[in-house]
Amino acid sequence: MIEKQLQLVLSEIPKNVALIAVSKTKPIEDILKAYKAGQRHFGENKVQELVEKAALLPKDISWHLIGHLQRNKVKYMAGFVHLIHGVESLNLLIEINKQAQKVNRIQDVLLQFHIGEEDTKFGMTLEEATEILNSEIAKNLKNIRVCGVMGMASFTSAQNQISQEFKNLYDIFKQLQKEFFQSQNHFKEISMGMSGDYQLAIEQGSTMVRVGSKIFGGR
Ligand SMILES: *Cc1c(COP(=O)(O)O)cnc(C)c1O
Repeated sequence: MIEKQLQLVLSEIPKNVALIAVSKTKPIEDILKAYKAGQRHFGENKVQELVEKAALLPKDISWHLIGHLQRNKVKYMAGFVHLIHGVESLNLLIEINKQAQKVNRIQDVLLQFHIGEEDTKFGMTLEEATEILNSEIAKNLKNIRVCGVMGMASFTSAQNQISQEFKNLYDIFKQLQKEFFQSQNHFKEISMGMSGDYQLAIEQGSTMVRVGSKIFGGR
C-alpha cells in the first residue's frame, strides 16, 4: 500500500520537484517500506520524534524538519538534519547558526511565510523577512545557508484561493531572490504543497512538496 501510494505520488510530480515523505506519527516499519521503495527524503514536525527515528533508520536518509520549531530543540538535531523548513524569526536563525557552528556544519534552512488565512499558521510577512535579512546580525551568520521559502495554504476547498496563496509565496521567493540572493544558486527552493494541494502548488512553481497522508494513510 505505502509503496503503491508512493509510486502514485511520484508519478504525479515532475522530476525537478522533490518529494518529502512526511512520516510524522507513523512507525519505523512504514518509513522502511518507503525507504526500500527508494524514498530518501523524509519530513517530521517534532524534533524529538525526528531524532528518535533517525537513530533507528538508515543513515543515508535526509531528514527535514517541517513544522514549527522551538529554539531549545535545535541542538538535538544540529548534527545531522538536512533542511529546516520552518524558520520564522531572527532568534531562531541565531540559535541554528550557533548550534551548527558547534558541530562545524553549514545548516540549510528555509524561511517560512504566512500565506494562509488561519491565524494559527506560522510564518513571517515579506516585510519581516526583509528586515531580518537586512540586519547586520543575519548577514554575519556564517553557518546558515538560506535556501528558499516555505508556506502552507489555507485549509479550504476553494482551489483558486489555494492557488492564489501559493502564487503569493512564489512572488515572495522571486522578490527575495532579486533583493538578497542574486547570483546565489543555492537560493532555489519553494517548499509548498501537501497531500491535498500539491498539484496546485506545482502549477505555481513549487520545487519541494511535503506529502504525508497520501503516502502513509490518515493520522
Ligand atoms: C503534516 C504536514 C504536512 C503533510 O500533510 P499531509 O496533508 O498529511 O500531506 C506537510 N507540511 C507540514 C508543515 C506538516 O505539518
